[in-house]
Amino acid sequence: MKPAPFAYAKARSLDEAIALLGEHSDSARLLAGGQSLLATLNMRLSAPRLLIDITGIAGLDRIARKGGKIEIGALVRHAQAERDKEIAAHAPLIALALPHIAHPAIRNRGTLGGSIAFADPAAELPACLLALNGEVEITGVKGRRTVKADDFFKGLFETALGSQDILTAIRLPAATKDTRFGFAEFARRHGDYAMVGLAASGRADGKGLADVRLAFFGIGATPLRAKKAEAALAGGKLDAAIKALSGDLAPPDDLQATGAVKMHLAGVLLKRVAGQLSEQRS
Ligand code: FAD
Repeated sequence: MKPAPFAYAKARSLDEAIALLGEHSDSARLLAGGQSLLATLNMRLSAPRLLIDITGIAGLDRIARKGGKIEIGALVRHAQAERDKEIAAHAPLIALALPHIAHPAIRNRGTLGGSIAFADPAAELPACLLALNGEVEITGVKGRRTVKADDFFKGLFETALGSQDILTAIRLPAATKDTRFGFAEFARRHGDYAMVGLAASGRADGKGLADVRLAFFGIGATPLRAKKAEAALAGGKLDAAIKALSGDLAPPDDLQATGAVKMHLAGVLLKRVAGQLSEQRS
C-alpha cells in the first residue's frame, strides 16, 4: 500500500519544529529515522497531513557525560550508539541491548529518541530506560521538562509526550564499578521484536544486590517492572523471585504466544539475567 498524501517540512532548528507543531498539532507527525513511522504510513495506520522532519536539527545527535549522568540526544542513531565508547563504558546495558534491535540497515537509520517516543511494548530500549531508572527530556511549546521513565510509559504506544512535544534527550545514571546489569530476550529470529525480554540493573551491596530493577518487555502494553520479584532477588532468593512473577505480570495471549507461555519464558529469562547480575559480582 502507499501512504495517504501528506505535506513535508524540514525543520532547521528546535524552535522551528516546535512552531510547526504548535501550528499543526494533531495533524502533524515528527519524522526521525522513519523506521517505524513509514511502515505505519504505508499501512495507513496513521495518516498525518504534515511530516516534520527533525533530522536536520543540530545538537540532538550528541552523546555526553554530564555529572553522574550520560545524556543521549534524541537523534542519536542505534548504529552510532553501538559504536560509542561512552555508552560502552557508562551505559553497558544499552550496549548489550542494541544488537538485538532489528538489523544493521534499520539500526543505521533508527534513532534512540524515535524508539523511546514510539514506545513499542516489545522494544528493547524503553525497557532499558526503565531498568536504568532513566529520564526523558521533553521540549514543547511551554518549554522544557523532565519525566522519569517510571512515569513516561502510559499505555499501548502512549507516553507522556503530548502532540506538541519533542523528545529531545534521554538521561541515564552513568554506571559505576558497583553497577550490575543484565539483558536477555526470546525472539523467533535474531533481530525480530522480542516475544518476551528482560532488562535489569542493580547495585552490588556486599555479597548481595540492592536497588534491583527488572523491566520486562513484550509482556504487556508497556515495559513493566516486576517489583515483587525485584524485592525477592535483592534478598538473594531467586526461586522466590521467579514465583513472585505471577504477582507482577499477567501477560495476555498475542500472535506470538499464549500468556502462559510468556509467563514461563519470563521465569526462564529471570534465571538467566539473575546469573548475569551475580557473575559480575567480584
Ligand atoms: P520514526 O519511525 O521516525 O518515528 C516513530 C514515531 O516516533 C513517530 O510517531 C514519530 O513521530 C515519533 N518520534 C520520533 N522521534 C521523536 C522525537 N524525538 N520526539 C517525539 N516523537 C518522536 N525496534 C526495536 O526496538 N526492536 C526491534 O527488534 C525492531 N525491529 C524492527 C524491524 C523492522 C523490520 C523495522 C522496520 C523496525 C524495527 N524496529 C525495532 C524499530 C526501530 O527500532 C525504529 O528505529 C524505532 O522504533 C523508531 O525510531 P525512528 O527513529 O525510526 O522513528
